[in-house]
Amino acid sequence: MAFESLTERLQDAMKKLRRKGKITESDVREMMREIRLALLEADVNFNVVKDFTKRVSDRAVGSEVLDTLTSAQQIVKIVDEELTATLGQEAVPLNKSPKIPTVIMVSGLQGAGKTTFVGKLANFLKKNNDARPLLIAGDVYRPAAIEQLKVIGQQIDVPVFDMGTDVSPVEIVRQGMALAQEQKNDYVFIDTAGRLHIDDVLMNELKEIKELATPDEILLVVDAMTGQDAVNVAESFNEQLSITGVVVTKLDGDTRGGAALSIRAVTGKPIKFVGTGEKLTDIEVFHPDRMSGRILGMGDMLTLIEKAQQDYDEQKAEELALKMQENTFDFNDFIEQFDQLQNMGSFEDIIKMIPGMNNIPGMDKVQIDPKDIERKKAMVYSMTPEERVNPDLLNPSRRRRIAAGSGNSVVQVNQMIKQFKESKKMMQQMSSGKMPAGMDQMFG
Ligand code: GDP
Repeated sequence: MAFESLTERLQDAMKKLRRKGKITESDVREMMREIRLALLEADVNFNVVKDFTKRVSDRAVGSEVLDTLTSAQQIVKIVDEELTATLGQEAVPLNKSPKIPTVIMVSGLQGAGKTTFVGKLANFLKKNNDARPLLIAGDVYRPAAIEQLKVIGQQIDVPVFDMGTDVSPVEIVRQGMALAQEQKNDYVFIDTAGRLHIDDVLMNELKEIKELATPDEILLVVDAMTGQDAVNVAESFNEQLSITGVVVTKLDGDTRGGAALSIRAVTGKPIKFVGTGEKLTDIEVFHPDRMSGRILGMGDMLTLIEKAQQDYDEQKAEELALKMQENTFDFNDFIEQFDQLQNMGSFEDIIKMIPGMNNIPGMDKVQIDPKDIERKKAMVYSMTPEERVNPDLLNPSRRRRIAAGSGNSVVQVNQMIKQFKESKKMMQQMSSGKMPAGMDQMFG
């Protein structure tokens, strides 16, 4: 996940400060030196680092902060505020046209994750705003691009307009827009051609599409893993196309985080969304304050809650709550839970969003092994329907049968049943309003 070592180093620098009690100017300078190095190593743009450290130092040294008992706390607050400012201060919502359709043009270099993002955002709008988008397949140079968009369209149940690869992108956009008018789609996405590098032909084509479609939003998709190259690409696209926002993809694979931290300050254009994985639900609205909190290791409960709301099937959650109350939680629900958890993304990332969790020793190593989940599912699938709802039936001979049927040992089957029983007990406790044993200490 992004910002791994940056978070660690920033936390170290701030921890040292906290240990000091009263803090002097030289303590602040020392911390700022460490922060500066940490940011540069995270591949943050040099000028952005310089500007950021100056703002923090000026505020920390020049104010009443020093020589009081709460100095460290106040300095951490200043770091958080200035980091938030560097990231753009506030989330900038997607532009919306007063009349339909709102036109969103999506551009970017090949492989940045443009087509995937079109699917992610269309899906996001459909789920959260009941939108009825139309996707226009304007990338006629990469033959697989149209097919890829169509597959994505099918997955999210959103129509895709295409005219194959023999018609000019401008003509495709013209006809696609006309169709959207006719069908009263409220959003139109234009997936444009990518290239390996920026060239005049590409830029001219994008300008022509822009002129024709007068988009409400011109989003540039950049790949976080390309670091400062992504920042340079954003600068060039912005100069030529006057983009309205940036989307930073593959934040999940980028351990340094330099692009995400530099783009707003360098281009002046807001990051509107980030991509955090290959699945079509791996998209987050970019909130500078929450991202700052995450980078500083303070967690991000709000995004976690939103994610849970978006990815967790509400109806299933209600059914589960009822089952907890009635104490009818069975093996079918047990494996259903794993599916829901897997939908929310990697456990490691979820943990990071819970404040304080990454300070608990060993928490960073907790992982849900997808193979282990598959193994447990296989065991449940090897049970008869009666066994799945009534664990008391599972005598030794049935356990042996389940082990053989699922390719596991009896010991593994026993472990799984034990885990099931513990989950069930924990759920009963939770539904009766008690904090399950051990949980209270976790947050204490
Ligand atoms: P395009 O050429 O810009 O349209 O790029 P694609 O949408 O085809 O994406 C290129 C590759 O990046 C695909 O394998 C995607 O699955 C992958 N990808 C896109 N967004 C993300 C992301 O946020 N995280 C990760 N890990 N992979 C992504």
